[in-house]
Amino acid sequence: MDSQTIELKNSWAASAVHLTPGTLLHSALVYSHRATGSKNQVESLRRFYGYRGVSPGNWYGSGCGRVAANYFANTLTPFEVLCRHTVFGFYSLGTSEETARQWASELTAGRAMGCNRYTRVGDAATPQKGLRWCVDCARAELSTIGFATWRVVHQIPFIRICPTHRSILRTGRCRCKRSAIDCGAFMLPGEICSRCGLLETFQEEMPTAVAYQGLMDRAVVAFDQQLSIYLSAPIQL
Ligand SMILES: [Zn+2]
Ligand SMILES: [Zn+2]
Repeated sequence: MDSQTIELKNSWAASAVHLTPGTLLHSALVYSHRATGSKNQVESLRRFYGYRGVSPGNWYGSGCGRVAANYFANTLTPFEVLCRHTVFGFYSLGTSEETARQWASELTAGRAMGCNRYTRVGDAATPQKGLRWCVDCARAELSTIGFATWRVVHQIPFIRICPTHRSILRTGRCRCKRSAIDCGAFMLPGEICSRCGLLETFQEEMPTAVAYQGLMDRAVVAFDQQLSIYLSAPIQL
């Protein structure tokens, strides 16, 4: 018998699940982390994005070149991963095509410094920081794919209601940790804490401005169809 051996690995790529467009990439990281049975979140981050330095949220998808190859098995290009599964897909619409491509190539290579970092600033109108979800979206996914995922558009700061269901978005807080459910918690929408068995939820404020839903709908269409938000629209008088 030669020195070659058959090595069985518990591969995270083998456990990949199909992500519908608009699913936040973090959902795939959480799912992969669980599917491999890993207890080490930092190690899961490294395997998924290629390096340990990335923040758990990785909102702009730094390292998407590796994710496209390993998680999506090259069925998506790195650019498509960014546009469909990260907030890059929204914010890049406000830049020139050249800037977006340059930015995407930095992210593909795994650089996350300078303008590639993303920080969500505090907002007095938002009761809790942390990831937002829609109860109706979560319920629908639980019955179809068996687990709920985070959605990209729900995380855009000015989106307060679900564009699909018009339900007010929620945030959650774990009682034992007393902090908002964020990307570092490696949880999926609506899940209770494994330590204290509780999840305290908060609702966003329902926006009252008449024009709000129109603005929100236009932003969501722009994200879904990848339209430049600076394209001139016909002015209706
Ligand atoms: Zn919804
Ligand atoms: Zn807890």
